[in-house]
Amino acid sequence: MSVDVFIGMGSNIEADLNIPRALEALLSRADVTGISIFYRSTPAGGKRQPPFTNGVVRINWAGTAVELKLNVLREIEAALGRRRSADRYADRQIDLDLLLFGQENISTPELTVPDPDIVERPFIYVPLLELEPDVSLPGRGPLSQHLSGSLLPAVGGLKPAVRLTEHLRITWRRALKHHCFNQPD
Ligand code: ADP
Ligand code: MG
Repeated sequence: MSVDVFIGMGSNIEADLNIPRALEALLSRADVTGISIFYRSTPAGGKRQPPFTNGVVRINWAGTAVELKLNVLREIEAALGRRRSADRYADRQIDLDLLLFGQENISTPELTVPDPDIVERPFIYVPLLELEPDVSLPGRGPLSQHLSGSLLPAVGGLKPAVRLTEHLRITWRRALKHHCFNQPD
């Protein structure tokens, strides 16, 4: 059995290089079924730092959530040079967060799913709702009923990264075509 999984992708160090690299790595390890618009936004946390670029990618995944996090997301972060620090708001080449894993609630020391930031951060819930407008939080009903802010002002604070998004979607389509042509009859 496989489930729909939503992954938050963000960067504020050379985002236009690191996000496509992360997507390429994800395409080679997972079945990508959707890519949202990516957005630029000013950093949360009140620090002076480069703007962030964020979006959401949907995959279809047959393994466990821990496997996905350790073998795929953490590996891609490390391959792209991510060093972790205690600072939640530190600059990062790439951040890959497990937002939703089917309709599972997971609460372990290393993994909280759904990611609590979903309902707090417009740069997560706006692209997530674009990919799946009627998406639900497990056991809590439609996401749209749990947002900390209303959708319209939230969208206003996000600037679409149009060329990056196009580039990501072209990369994705190319990978899908390649995959189809290489399938046995
Ligand atoms: P951020 O909060 O900005 O994503 P990190 O990527 O450094 O910061 O993550 C901080 C910690 O959150 C990591 O130790 C990670 O194991 C943990 N974590 C908890 N839940 C999740 C999740 N759903 N997806 C990814 N990491 C998670
Ligand atoms: Mg993270």
